[in-house]
Order: sequence, then C-alpha cells, then structure tokens
Amino acid sequence: MINYLKSIVKRINISRIKMKQEKIFTLLNEMSLDEKIGQLIQLSGEFFSASDISIGPIEKLGISKKMVNLCGSALNVVGAENIRRVQDQQMQKQPHHIPMLFMSDVIYGFKTIFPIPLGLGSSWDPKLVKRAYSVAAEEASASGNQVAFAPMVDVVHDARWGRVLESPGEDPYLNSVYSKNMVEGLQENLANKTGQVSCIKHYAAYGAVEAGREYNQVDMSLSNLYQNFLPPYKAGVKAGAGMVMTALTTLNGVPSTADKWLLSDVLRKKWKFNGIIISDYASIYELIKHGFARDSTDAALKAIDAGVDIDMKSPCYANGLHELVTNGTLDEEKINNAVLKVLNLKNQLGLFENPYFGASVEKEKNSILTPQKRKLARKLAQESLVLIQNKNNILPLKKDAKVALIGPYANSQKLIGMWAIHGNSKDTVTIADGLRQYTNNLTVTHGTDLCRDKALLKKLGFLTEEDINKIVSSPEKERLHIQNAFKAAKAADIIVLTLGEETYEAGEAGAKTNLNIAPNQLKLLDKLSQLNKPIILVLISGRPLVLTKVKDKVDAILESWFPGTEGGNAIADILFGKVNPSGRLTMSFPYASAQEPLYYNHLSTGRPENNSQHVGRFVSKYIDASARALYPFGYGLSYGKIKYSNLTISSERLFLDKPVKISLDIENLSDYDRKETVQLYIHQETASIVQPVKRLIDFTKIAISGHSSQHVEFYINASQLSFYDNIGRSHKESSKIQVYVGTNGVQLLKGKFDFINKRS
Ligand code: BGC
Repeated sequence: MINYLKSIVKRINISRIKMKQEKIFTLLNEMSLDEKIGQLIQLSGEFFSASDISIGPIEKLGISKKMVNLCGSALNVVGAENIRRVQDQQMQKQPHHIPMLFMSDVIYGFKTIFPIPLGLGSSWDPKLVKRAYSVAAEEASASGNQVAFAPMVDVVHDARWGRVLESPGEDPYLNSVYSKNMVEGLQENLANKTGQVSCIKHYAAYGAVEAGREYNQVDMSLSNLYQNFLPPYKAGVKAGAGMVMTALTTLNGVPSTADKWLLSDVLRKKWKFNGIIISDYASIYELIKHGFARDSTDAALKAIDAGVDIDMKSPCYANGLHELVTNGTLDEEKINNAVLKVLNLKNQLGLFENPYFGASVEKEKNSILTPQKRKLARKLAQESLVLIQNKNNILPLKKDAKVALIGPYANSQKLIGMWAIHGNSKDTVTIADGLRQYTNNLTVTHGTDLCRDKALLKKLGFLTEEDINKIVSSPEKERLHIQNAFKAAKAADIIVLTLGEETYEAGEAGAKTNLNIAPNQLKLLDKLSQLNKPIILVLISGRPLVLTKVKDKVDAILESWFPGTEGGNAIADILFGKVNPSGRLTMSFPYASAQEPLYYNHLSTGRPENNSQHVGRFVSKYIDASARALYPFGYGLSYGKIKYSNLTISSERLFLDKPVKISLDIENLSDYDRKETVQLYIHQETASIVQPVKRLIDFTKIAISGHSSQHVEFYINASQLSFYDNIGRSHKESSKIQVYVGTNGVQLLKGKFDFINKRS
C-alpha cells in the first residue's frame, strides 16, 4: 500500500509537512477500517455536547456511538474553550488519538462582520476584500476554527434566490478575481495559525437554480457552464484553496455530490485539485431523495466513487462504507485515498503537535472587534454602498441638517445579515448612531415593521407564533408608529427613510417570487411623500429589489445591503459626504420580478428589440415591462461629475502574440475627490458559439481628486477572448471585437478592433 500512497502524495500539494510523511503512512496502515471511515465523517456540535447552530434532528441520523467517537471533524463548533474541550474528549476516545478538524461558516466575517458578499462585490476592490478575509480568518482561528466554508463564489443570475447575498455577483470574471483574493486572504496566515483553510463552495453552479427556487435543479449547456459558472471555482482552486464543497443541487440531471465528471474529471483531473472534497449538509443522504441512490449505502458508494472525501452531517459514510468494503463492492484504497487527504491536512495544520491550532481564550478576547478591525469593516462598508439615485444632487447632506430618520432599520442593530452566524448584532453600529455624529437635529422613529405578512414569516419555517407576534406589531401600534413618523417628518427638513428586507428573507431557503418592498413599507413611503419633502431612501437588502415605482417617489437611493458591524457609521459617512460613494452594482436590478433571471452578459436574440426592423413588432420584448435592467451590472453613482474621453486602441488588429492597448482619459469635473471603477467590456461579433452582448474582461478602481484628470490603460490579449464550446473545449476565433470602457449604465466609450487568430 505504501507505494500506492506515495504516488498519491506526489500529487498532493503539501506546502508545510509537519509530521514526517512516512509516519502518516504508518498511522494509516495501523488504523482499522472504522477508524478510517471516522475520518471521513463530519458531525455537528450536538454530537459532542457543544453548542452549535446546526439544524435537524440528530436522532434521525442513526449513527452508532462508536462511529461518533471516531468522527474526524466537527461542523460549526466554535469558541476556544469549547473546541479545546471537544478536541481533548474526542482524541481520548480515538485509538490513535487523532485530532479533529473544526470547520465552520466564516462567510463574511467572524465577530467583526463585513458587508454581505454581494456588498463586498460592489466595492470592486478585491485587495481590500482580501484583507477582510484575512481578518475574518484571524478571528476565527483564535476561536479554534481551522476551515472556513468560504468563499461562496456561485455566479448568481436570479434575485429570487435567497442566497444571492452570499455571492460577489453575476459576473464570472469578477467573481473569479474575488474568489482568488478571498482564498488568499483566508489562507495567507495559516502557517502562524492565524489563517483558515479555505473551502470554496458550492461546486458547481448552485447559483443557477431554476426559477430561483432553493435547491431546485440546474440545467445548462456545457459552454454556458464552462464560460459563466465554473471560472470562479477554478480561480479559487488555482489560488490554492484546500477544500471544495459540493452543491446541494442536480446539474443536468446528476446530483453534484455524486457527479463523477464534475468532481473527478473536471475538478481533480483537469484542474489538478488535490485537496479535500466535502459534501454540503446532508447532501449524500439527499441522493436518495433526488432519486439517484436506492438507500444510504448506495448513496455512500456513489458519493465516494465520484470523489467526495468527507460526508457532512449524514449517516451514509458512517453506516454504509464498512459494509461496502467488506462485501467487496468498494475497494478500500478509495477510502485510504480520502483518509490520506484528511490526515495530510491535519498534519499541514500541525494538529498532531498542537491539536488546538489557534484556539486561545485570551486571543479570542483580545483579537476580535479591535479598533483596526472595525476601521476596516467601516471602510469596506463605505466602498460597498451603491448610490443608485441622487436627484438634484440632494446628497450629500449638510452638517446639522434637520433630519427625520424613519423606518424599521432606523434604530436597528440587525444589519449583519443571515450568514453572520458567529457575529453578534449587539456589536453593530445603528444608522441612528451613525447619523448622530453629523447632526444634532435628528429624530428617530420606527415608522413601520419590516414585514407584516404573518403567512410569509410562518413559511420561513423556524419562527414560532410568539416570535412572529414580536415581529408584527398590533394594528394600534402600527397606526401609532406611522403617526409618529409623520409627525417627525413634518418637523424635519429631510427624511432619511430606511426600508428593506427582514434578515431571514434573504439567505438560505429565502427564495421569493416578489422582489418588491413590502406593502406596509410602501404605504409608509406614500404617506411621507404627501409632505413634499426630500426623501433619501436607505435600502437594506440581501438582493436586488424592484425599485421601478419607488424611484419616482424618492430623491436619492442608497443601496446599503446588510452592511455589517460598522454599517451605521458607513451609511452616515456617505450621506453626509465624508466619503464619496464608489460602489457599483454586481447584480442587475430588474424593472419587474418576473424578468428574473436577469443578467447583463446574456446572448443576443435574432430579434433584439432595438434592431429588428425586418420583423416589425415581432421582437424580443415584454409587452408589460422593459426587458432591460432598471439598474444594470456595473452601475452606480458618485458625488460630482466625471468625463471619459480619448479612447484609443493601439492597433486595428490583435494577434495571438500581440495584445492591443486600450487607453483613455478620465476627468473629474467636480470639487469632490472620488474613486472611479473603470470597466472594460468586449463583445465578439461572430463566433461558432454565440457570445454575450457584453462581457467584462478587466477593470480598475482609481482615486481621482477634484478637478484633475487621469490616464488609464488596459491591455487585451488573445487569451481574454477565448470561449468554450459544448464539449468544454476552449476556442479562439477571428472576429470583429467591440470594446466598451467606462461605467456600465452611466457612460461607456466605444471602439473596436479585429482579432486575428494567428501570430502577427
Ligand atoms: C449550506 C452551506 C454551509 C453548510 C454548513 C449548508 O446548508 O448550504 O453553505 O456551509 O450548510 O453550515
């Protein structure tokens, strides 16, 4: 066996070998079959009498005490003390005293919470985002966690899906850049135990669930998969992510958790991924529910055969693998192969020498939520906010403006979003507290509830009647809220209205068909509009909402996502102009919910609405709404005007060995210092696989002070023009290439060149 294992080790990228490799082989050789299987199961805290946030009745898992004792990794058990205790107990129970791995959802912060990833995406600042992930890793490691189930880099096209908040957005290139930086941020300090192993998820194409319905099927062409959905995972793998998590969905009829092609052929063979593949929560068991496996033993066989190493929170490996080996159905080498990867990771982390990793009660206390970390969270929140509308330059507000701050988020600390599971909203700065730093003329009223739809709240599936009654005020109280708000608004010069989504409307299992703001919130807006005073809408949401009617009733709109621990400060900094907003959308905002899925980089139909004279009225359109985005990908405003000019393309032709240079000038016509995200898009006019009407291939975010100019340059080379066919082959084809540079939806300069698919 040793020789066989050595050959595997050669393929596994082990950067810091702690225990000698021979010792790992010896250990593996000495382990019983059950001990090995134990290394391949992951259970949550309730199995180790540790507090955790996991869902689901454990009794139903039906795993024997013996296998629980041999379990090799824990899910969402955190806290230095907790982890030390569980580690000690578990190691004692194991014949070879093998330390456990502790893995958890550290998705956009641990205790210091950054904006949700859709907000981080809107910053278009991958280097800053990398710092956020490094900080999150530092905090998580002090609490003893070792693997972060992040980043989530699923490309998302459909705002009805609740999990769009976890993704940087709808673009494969941008998500790939973030993927790389997030992985690097998490893992950069692993060597000194202040980093985290990154587990990218959810492989693959979970973000394309049909109709945006949670856990629904995904069906797509291979060219679409390769070109638009796989690149961010690949970028994470290339950046060295130690783990990959499967998706809970089927892709073209095969559950991703048992898709040999996806896991073994693409991920392992094509991309040379040598790390650990873990199933998503109970997804091996769910192979039965999908109708892909007969029973839990069959499910275990199909998952391990496809390449899944660790079974997260299902009984299948624990109960099925032993029998499969002893009855000769499964070659034990498959198990050895998976166990070796787990042992190697434990060894890389130095757990055989120090099983507690970074767990330190003292560090845990001292390293979280420090002023520097809060400063970074504030900065990221500032960069992630997107100014969507600013009629008559109503913003920024003047210092000491007389403001009525109204709405369910006015004085709320619930600004951290659903997946900040280790964060505490009590650490969050409210919008009211943020604004108080700039004005003494502030009144704060609740206005209305976030959601008064009891049926919707019930359908979320976890709120009791009592919880719901706490969320939904009585009709008398609601009347009083509106009265108070109206009174406050009447006495003020400016209304800052905070509306949006309830935390649990946006997140896993939060799919919805209606992307409008809740009717009671709109009622409040209508009431306040009667006053004819300027209204600034601060939106808190985990997804694009429909703002078609709302935009005409308000003067300014600031999309603030769930902005995190420092959200209130960042919102105030932008409203009062201490910081010039620079966020740009990374998901298209629709005119109407039924337009979803909606994304900018779609293909052209044969009958585009604005260019199909040959067929008269028979064009691609909706008769009751626009087919375009109300606010597209890349859109966003800042204070002060900017002018793009002098687009120059260095050559009329691009060859395989000769890139073209794109250059342009940007002039800041205002007094405001600002940032500008210059976006570079192309459109390939003809190809054997029809190409998107526009696709992002590069961008740069630059600072540009008031009344100054900057020159910007990009290079386009042939590799950026490649695309995939329906058997996954990459192509480069000669064609005219249109170039667009600037801010999508605001100003784009246009040019073109010919791509010649040969050397010059
Ligand atoms: C989610 C994953 C998460 C896992 C563990 C699942 O429900 O899909 O994203 O990492 O739970 O908490």
